[in-house]
Amino acid sequence: AYVVADEWGRVAEANHHAAELFGAATSELFGRSLRDWAHPEDRPRLDDLVERLLAGDVERYEVEHRIVLDDGRERWVSVATTLADGSMAGGRSFLSLLQDVTERRQAAEDAERLAHIVASTSDLVGLADVGTGQLLYLNDAASRTLGVAGLGGRTFVELYAPGVVERWAGEIAPALRRQGTWQGELPMVAADGSVRDVSQTISLERDADGRATRLAAVGRDVTERRRLEDQLAHRATHDDLTGLPNRALLLERLDEALTTAGPDRPLALLFLDLDHFKAVNDSLGHEAGDELLREVARRVATVLRPDDLVARLGGDEFVVLCQGVVDEHQAADVARRITSAVEADPIRLAATELTVTASVGIALSAGSVHPEALLRDADAAMYRAKELGRARLEVYDEAMRSRAADRSALADQLAHALEHDQLELHHQPTVDLATGQVRGVEALVRWRHPERGVLPPAEFIRLAEDTGLIVGLGLRVLTLATRAARRWLDELGPDAPPVHVNLSAAQVAAPSIGPLVRGVLAATGLPPEQLCLEVTESVLMEDADAAEVNLRDLHEAGVRLAIDDFGTGYSSLSYLRRFPVDVIKIDRSFVEGLGPDPEGSAIVHAIISLARTLELESVAEGVESAGQLQALRALGCDSAQGFWFTPPLPEDQLLPALRRTWDVDPGT
Ligand code: C2E
Ligand code: CA
Ligand code: CA
Repeated sequence: AYVVADEWGRVAEANHHAAELFGAATSELFGRSLRDWAHPEDRPRLDDLVERLLAGDVERYEVEHRIVLDDGRERWVSVATTLADGSMAGGRSFLSLLQDVTERRQAAEDAERLAHIVASTSDLVGLADVGTGQLLYLNDAASRTLGVAGLGGRTFVELYAPGVVERWAGEIAPALRRQGTWQGELPMVAADGSVRDVSQTISLERDADGRATRLAAVGRDVTERRRLEDQLAHRATHDDLTGLPNRALLLERLDEALTTAGPDRPLALLFLDLDHFKAVNDSLGHEAGDELLREVARRVATVLRPDDLVARLGGDEFVVLCQGVVDEHQAADVARRITSAVEADPIRLAATELTVTASVGIALSAGSVHPEALLRDADAAMYRAKELGRARLEVYDEAMRSRAADRSALADQLAHALEHDQLELHHQPTVDLATGQVRGVEALVRWRHPERGVLPPAEFIRLAEDTGLIVGLGLRVLTLATRAARRWLDELGPDAPPVHVNLSAAQVAAPSIGPLVRGVLAATGLPPEQLCLEVTESVLMEDADAAEVNLRDLHEAGVRLAIDDFGTGYSSLSYLRRFPVDVIKIDRSFVEGLGPDPEGSAIVHAIISLARTLELESVAEGVESAGQLQALRALGCDSAQGFWFTPPLPEDQLLPALRRTWDVDPGT
C-alpha cells in the first residue's frame, strides 16, 4: 500500500491496497490524517519520528506500529516513510509505503509466548540433536530437577539411567521411527546421582525433506508420586505400627500356601494374643502400648524361619503362618519358641519394665482348606487358651468345634437361669489370724443347672462376661449377697462380718454400678460398711478411668474395696494409690509356695509388708495346710481363707461357722 500525505499528514493519494489496509474505500481516505489511525499508545513514537524527518535529522524512517480501524479492529503495519520536497502539491509531502504485518507479528508473539511457557512450565522439556545426541535445550524445570547447570556439551543419553540404553534400542527408537512419538516412564539421573522417575513423551522432529533433525522430550517428575503410591500399596497390605503384613496380606499368602500345601506339605496357623494388653494400654498410655507391640513384633520375627510369615491383625493379635509343619507337636514347638521370645526378658518401656505373656491358638491345615476358616479355628483355639487361664497354647480340634456349639447353647441356658432363680450363693469365711474370729465372708456364685447339677463359676462366668449376661448375673449376686449379709446382721448384731462380692470388669466400668450398688444396699437395708467389693488388678486396669470414678464414688459412700488375686495381674503397683483399696487378697499361687523354703516366703513377706505400709488388710487365699497357716502367722498376715478352715458353705450351714472361734494356731 502506498499513501501520499501533505505537510499536515492529510491523505492526498492512496492506492487500492491502502484502502484495503484501512478497511475503507479509497475516496474515504482523502483528507484524513494517517495519525488518526495510529494506535494512541503508538502515536508519541510516530510523532517523534515525523518531527525528526521534518527537522532533517533522518531522511526516512521505518517503523512497525498498530493501527485501529474504524470498526475497532487492530492491525499491525510496517511503515517506511520519506519526505518529498516540493512535489505536485506544492509544499512538502510524506510518501509512505505500508504493509500489513499482523500475521507475522502474531506468529512471533505466539512463538514468544510458547517459548515462555516452555521455559517456565514445571514440566521437564529438552531438545537434542538426532545426529550427535548433543543437548540443544533444557528448560528451567529440567535443569533444576536434574541439577544440570549449563548444557556443557552434554548428550541426552547422559541424563538417563544406564538401563535406558537397551530400552532405547529395543523399544523407543523403533516407536519413534514408526509413529514419531514414544510415551512412557524412564529413570533419569540427576547430577548428584539420585534417580528420578520421569513420565515423558519423546518425539522426533523432521525437516521439510522428512529428515529427522531433533528429539524433543516433555516429561514430568513422578518420583514423589511413585513413592506415595508405593507407600499406599504398602499400607494397604501392611500394618502401620509394626510394619508387619496385615490381615489382607496374610489371607492372600495363606490362600497361596493352601493351594500348594496338600497332604505332604501341611501348614500351621498360630494365633497369638497378648494377655492383659488392654490394661497396659489404659494405664501406661497408648505410646507405651504401641512400643510394646513393636517390641513383640520384633521378638516374634527373630525366632521365625525365612519361610514363615508373621502378620498383625490389629490390637494385640498376631498370626504366624508356618509352612511345612508336619503335626501339632511341631507347631507347638514353634509356638513355644515364639512365646518364650516374647516372655523371656521384661520389655523396656519409657517409664517401666514389663513382662508380658501370650495365649496361642494353633490350627493345622489338614482339617480345613479355606483361609478364613483356618484363621477362625486358630482364633477359637486361642480363645480356649485364654479361657483355660492364659499364657498357654491350645491346638484346635473337633472337640473345640463342638465346644463352640455347646457354649452358645449354654449361654441360652444361662439367660434362662437368670430369670428362673437357678443362681445361688455359697459362702466362705475369712478368719482373723490373731483372734480366730470371722472377719469377712466371700459370696461365691453357683448355678443349679437343671440337668448338670451345681456348676462352679469357672464353667459360666467367662461365658457371662463374653455375652454381656454378667451385668444381670452380677446384679443377682449382689442382691442375694446383701440380703444374706442383712440376715447375719440381724442374727449376730454388730459383730456380723461384711460380705465380699466379686465384680467383673464389665460391671466395674459400667456407669450404672454406683447407683446399682447403692440401690441394692438401700433395698436390703444393709449399711455400706458391710459390703466389700472384690476386683482383680486386671479388672481395674481394663477401663481404669471409669473404674476409678465409680469405685471412688462407692468408697465415699462407705463400701469397701479388695484387690483379688493380688500379684497375678498387673505389675505396677501405682494403682494401689490410685484406687481406694482397703484389702489385699494374696493369690493362692503364692500361698501354695509357703512352707519351710524361704524362697517361697519371700514374695508373700513382701506383699504383707506392702499391705502394712499402706495400712491395708492382708488376706491369704487358698490356705490348705497347717504349714501354710503357720508361715502366714509368722509373716504377720492379718487373715486367711481356705479349705483348711472350710470350703464355701451353703447358706444354711453358715451361721455356726460365723459364730465359732477358729483354731488359728495348729502348732499347739
Ligand atoms: P476367687 O474370687 O479367687 O474365689 C476363690 C476361689 O477359690 C473360690 O472358687 C473358692 O472356692 C476357691 N477356694 C477357696 N479356698 C480354697 C482352697 O483352700 N484351695 C483351693 N484350691 N481353692 C480354694 P470358686 O467358688 O470356684 O470361684 C472361682 C472364681 O470365680 C472366683 O475366684 C471368682 O473370681 C469367680 N467368681 C465367683 N463368684 C463370682 C461372682 O459372683 N461374680 C463374679 N464376677 N465372679 C465370681
Ligand atoms: Ca474373690
Ligand atoms: Ca481370689
